[in-house]
Amino acid sequence: MPVERVAVNGVRAAVLREVGGAFSVEDVTLPAPGPGQVRVRMAATGVCHSDLSLANGTMAQEFPVVLGHEGAGRVAEVGPEVTGLSAGDPVLLNWAPACRRCWYCERGEPYLCPEAMRAWQRPYATLSDGSGVFQGLGTAAFGTETVVDAHACVPLPRDVPLDQAALLGCAVLTGVGAVVNAAKVQPGESVLVIGLGGVGLCAVQGAARIAGAGQVIAVDPSPEKAELASRLGATATLEPSDDLASRVRGLTEGRGADHAIECVGRAETIRGAWSATRRGGRTTVVGMGARGDKLALNALEIAYWGRTLAGCMFGNSDPAADLPALIEHYRAGRLDLAALVTDRIGLDQLGPAFEAMRAGHGARSLVVFDE
Ligand SMILES: [Zn+2]
Ligand SMILES: [Zn+2]
Repeated sequence: MPVERVAVNGVRAAVLREVGGAFSVEDVTLPAPGPGQVRVRMAATGVCHSDLSLANGTMAQEFPVVLGHEGAGRVAEVGPEVTGLSAGDPVLLNWAPACRRCWYCERGEPYLCPEAMRAWQRPYATLSDGSGVFQGLGTAAFGTETVVDAHACVPLPRDVPLDQAALLGCAVLTGVGAVVNAAKVQPGESVLVIGLGGVGLCAVQGAARIAGAGQVIAVDPSPEKAELASRLGATATLEPSDDLASRVRGLTEGRGADHAIECVGRAETIRGAWSATRRGGRTTVVGMGARGDKLALNALEIAYWGRTLAGCMFGNSDPAADLPALIEHYRAGRLDLAALVTDRIGLDQLGPAFEAMRAGHGARSLVVFDE
């Protein structure tokens, strides 16, 4: 007998109606999952800096929208033609699910898949007045439930607590991936990490505890985040300053760092990361900034310093392929997820959490749902 599929009413979600607007937690109606889709009951969702960039217009976004993309939960219902997932399965949401068929995917660069962003552009649910609401980064994880494509769900092992697992979905894949996949940091190398939000603190752990870097120099204006970085493996912490490059050279026998990982996304900090990289070293830019923020390099220095300036998208990660190794690092204690969470909040506290993020306070706020 065919299973009757019905829309789900009474899902609570944090709706944002305009750029710079305030969140309002309200009921939305989710459609029954269609072919190849899955309904997920959220357990926890991290508040990521990209959510702030989408909310304040730095990154393009259609409104009204439900943001939130760093989430974990359990499958509540599967649509037709879904295989390999069943109700109750713990899953991590992947905000950039690769198609596995395009030119980039076939080259082994799924993090550049142009199809991955398709879900970002469509309404996924309806508001109480019947109008559509868009799905931030294709996930809309600031809601008690969401509907996503099945290939946006990565199965999780049952021994990883879902609240900690949520952080794997963006901060960990991006920060550890930047170090391991993009920069390919080697044992004993020196690594400078600029910006100690969730991603930067994962880059610190990735460098110190996974890649086996020698020196890990962490930079942030916040003393609490610098202290956290020290606990997670940084060997030195610095406050940002105009003479950052010379201070980094002072810590690296006059050369500069083998690697700089920039996790802020501002021309000023990218320039600082580049200048603090040694001759022949590599500057990896993870931070996503604003179109109008121009980076200046002079025409002499590029060849002379022999450095590589490289971008990095989503940690050059493939969540499905990289997750098992990250879970092993977590189980072995090399990846401390709990330490990244500085605030556990409800959906109605997103406003203050975004304000704290804007002001640079705290590492990760985590929205925790009643399962
Ligand atoms: Zn994110
Ligand atoms: Zn693709």
